[in-house]
Amino acid sequence: MVIVQKYGGTSVGDIEKVKSVAKRIVRTKRKKNQVVVVVSAPAGKTDELNSLAHQVAKIPNQREMDMLLTTGEQMSVALLAMAIHELGEDAVSMTGLQIGITTNEKHGQAKIVDINTDRIRRELRKGKIVIVAGFQGSTSKNEITTLGRGGSDLTAVALAHVLKASLCEIYTDVDGVYTSDPRIVKDARKLDMISYEEMLEMASLGAKVMQSRSVEVGKKYNVPIMVRSSMNNNPGTLITKENKKMEQVLVSGVTITENEVKITLLKVPDTPGIAAKVFEKLAKSDVNVDMIIQNKSTTNFTDISFTVFKSELKRTLPVIHQAAKIVKASGVEVDKNIAKVSLVGVGMKSHSGVAAKMFSTLAKKKINIEMISTSEIKISCVVDGKKGKAAVRAIHSAFGLSRRKTVI
Ligand code: ASP
Ligand code: MG
Repeated sequence: MVIVQKYGGTSVGDIEKVKSVAKRIVRTKRKKNQVVVVVSAPAGKTDELNSLAHQVAKIPNQREMDMLLTTGEQMSVALLAMAIHELGEDAVSMTGLQIGITTNEKHGQAKIVDINTDRIRRELRKGKIVIVAGFQGSTSKNEITTLGRGGSDLTAVALAHVLKASLCEIYTDVDGVYTSDPRIVKDARKLDMISYEEMLEMASLGAKVMQSRSVEVGKKYNVPIMVRSSMNNNPGTLITKENKKMEQVLVSGVTITENEVKITLLKVPDTPGIAAKVFEKLAKSDVNVDMIIQNKSTTNFTDISFTVFKSELKRTLPVIHQAAKIVKASGVEVDKNIAKVSLVGVGMKSHSGVAAKMFSTLAKKKINIEMISTSEIKISCVVDGKKGKAAVRAIHSAFGLSRRKTVI
């Protein structure tokens, strides 16, 4: 049976950790498994390399950048292979190029187009543990590429798929996926299981457990993924296909993000084509708009509000001021102090009343809802940034998320 294990940067952050990870890998191997291990660069290494590049060049050459960034992972795989040798097992470290993880040519954000499993299979048959450098591949012309930040998760899930592994274990510094951020909600509970869809929503809504693209690939190919801690032996959270048991659970988690800002165009004429003009302009400038709200007016004028990522505000402002002129808005307002609180769960599909309960919970706490957006398995509310954490706690408790069965 093939098992893929991925160790994140914190799990190989220093030599003691590398040694302890090596022990865990050897234990897995000795249970008669064929083990393929994917490793990230030591925590902080990729950022450090990135910053070195920026000290040399204002806009570093992307090919050279990938050449540089991939060395972080190379350091990890070599050290880990040596540590495994010390424990009496055979291991071989490999780069993406050596394996044959072929990508397109988009440096820094490359997409995997093919994975050759021949070499890995050969090494496994010889009884070796294969240690793969995560986050990297190469083009058909043997140019080295990277898969985007957090891309080691993607390497692991993709390998688990092509090797038809029985499990893809993602080792990190938390025990699994929680009903909410334990730093905010003290009685947050670790979930035994979560669906790919829920995990995708949670990942984009602030739960930084796994890279989103890797979960998408897991979902596409139905790869069973177990998120667990490399610091203990606690069972983790299984990310898998949605099933009946999950639907009964109703909601799985509450998240908070504080990385968006709200922009309002004041007093725009309430006539056809106005929203189109504004959002076409933003789209042309590649600004990602998240939530949008516009009321029907009684005065022939209306306000349009929307949110963008804080990191994109600087780029958005000149565009929106231009748009404001074009649509004759009376002004532009920016609110940097907002929080987006979201409730996620596949059970919402088949139960009504979830939104109502979320809104009334906020009302009871006198927290005003400024914007709302929903999807089939998610409800998000924008609230005053100062009240975001209190909102999360109130919703977590109202839905009884610290218990195994949620209530409505
Ligand atoms: N080392 C890379 C990063 O920090 C890839 C990874 O950790 O998954 O983004
Ligand atoms: Mg990482």
